[in-house]
Amino acid sequence: MATDPAQRIADLSKAIRHHNHRYHVLDAPEIADIEYDEMVRELEALETDHPELVQPDSPTQRVGGPALDAFSAVTHRERMFSLDNAESHEDIAAWEARLERMLERPPAGYSCELKIDGLAVSITYENGRFVQAATRGDGLVGEDVTANVRTIKSVPLALGEGAPELMEVRGEIYMPVSAFDELNRKQAEAGERPYINPRNTAAGSVRQKDPAVTAGRNLSVWVYQLGFITGGPPLESHWETMEYLGSLGLKVNPASARAADAAAVHAYLERAEKDRHANDYEIDGVVIKVDSLDDQAILGFTAKSPRWAMAYKFPPEEKTTLLEDIRINVGRTGVATPYAVLDPVFVGGVTVTNATLHNEGELQRKDVRVGDTVIVRRAGDVIPEVVGPVLSKRPRGAKVWKLPKTCPFSGHPIVTPEGEARAICTGGFDCPSRLREYLFHFASRGGMDIEGLGYRTVDMLMSEGVIRTPADIFTLDRDDVLRFEGWGEVSVTNLMNAI
Ligand SMILES: [Zn+2]
Repeated sequence: MATDPAQRIADLSKAIRHHNHRYHVLDAPEIADIEYDEMVRELEALETDHPELVQPDSPTQRVGGPALDAFSAVTHRERMFSLDNAESHEDIAAWEARLERMLERPPAGYSCELKIDGLAVSITYENGRFVQAATRGDGLVGEDVTANVRTIKSVPLALGEGAPELMEVRGEIYMPVSAFDELNRKQAEAGERPYINPRNTAAGSVRQKDPAVTAGRNLSVWVYQLGFITGGPPLESHWETMEYLGSLGLKVNPASARAADAAAVHAYLERAEKDRHANDYEIDGVVIKVDSLDDQAILGFTAKSPRWAMAYKFPPEEKTTLLEDIRINVGRTGVATPYAVLDPVFVGGVTVTNATLHNEGELQRKDVRVGDTVIVRRAGDVIPEVVGPVLSKRPRGAKVWKLPKTCPFSGHPIVTPEGEARAICTGGFDCPSRLREYLFHFASRGGMDIEGLGYRTVDMLMSEGVIRTPADIFTLDRDDVLRFEGWGEVSVTNLMNAI
């Protein structure tokens, strides 16, 4: 072990940097957390004893700067362009045809990457040292968020061997889904309003006035584009560029792939959309870039975006719509669940008219009110959910929602048992809603699997008074059913046999 403190600080910094990279960038730690913590503690102690030896890019110097009153403006060295959007495979095919016309041949390959749903930033390194981070802003001028971005552990403060004199990279700062869920779990515990989604929360976290708050949010980054470089190695393709950035210690996404031709691009799109929720970060599409930098130079830019790149957007999983009413469902166990009646909205590939609001407590934490414009989310196979209100659009006089005191189906009192989140209708099977849900579940594949006893049949038999209790199903008389429209000898016999 070196006895010279300066040497020991340098050795420890180097080792910690290496393990940071293994842990936060590669997601492949080599040592136990406790060994890592020991090294950090030793470095901190040495730096406390020798403040003159503290380096600005020391791994201990992530949360250093004071809280800010405002973010100063940063003019980007190179404009941060936005990308053209495609919403279908046909749009992508049309773009590929345009590329072929302009190049008078197909491009020499593509690079495909997942489009991260986060906040775009530009990060500048001088001689391998992190010096500045800025938001996109209007593309020409952004906000200086250096103090906050340096708290993000997957953003290296010092690059590895081969760093150029000056380099600006672009990336997306995001909040991992697991970190978002954990944050909202804590919000719920504290009885606070939940955060709407990882993207907004990441953006809000980067724009905190106090870097210590940002540091506590567990943000991460994916770097996806080189903006500006002097003094780097010769680079011939986007793919090579990303490999170079990765070799410097920057976090580049291993889910990116090279595609030799249009067919491979479309295969990537399909796979990415199918696996949309397979990662611990949210994506809202795929970015396709012409891979060869020579091809990119020929294709150039329009006034607002590069011709050599395209963002393929997945159908949105969140939309806003009007919350027309909040009503109660009474389920098969008697639980009274509030749900939202929505102005129909097409989201996550289906038209949503109702969405669950879970329970009174959660509804009040989210503070959604009748008349609000609300954010509705439907992700994958998950049932549609009201995420929260758009407060700026709240109409005057919108009232806090309260659970009704009596059941709208049976008139029985609705009570919330001590220490429970869920309310129940006290009517038992006298509650027609509960009975209907119970019978339907009983007859369904999850229960007795009685073929022919679907929701509509249960509903009809109940509203006609044929079934009043769960046991009535077993004493069903064929004549009781035969008299209804649409029921003949065959269908009644089938139903009877099924029961
Ligand atoms: Zn009831």
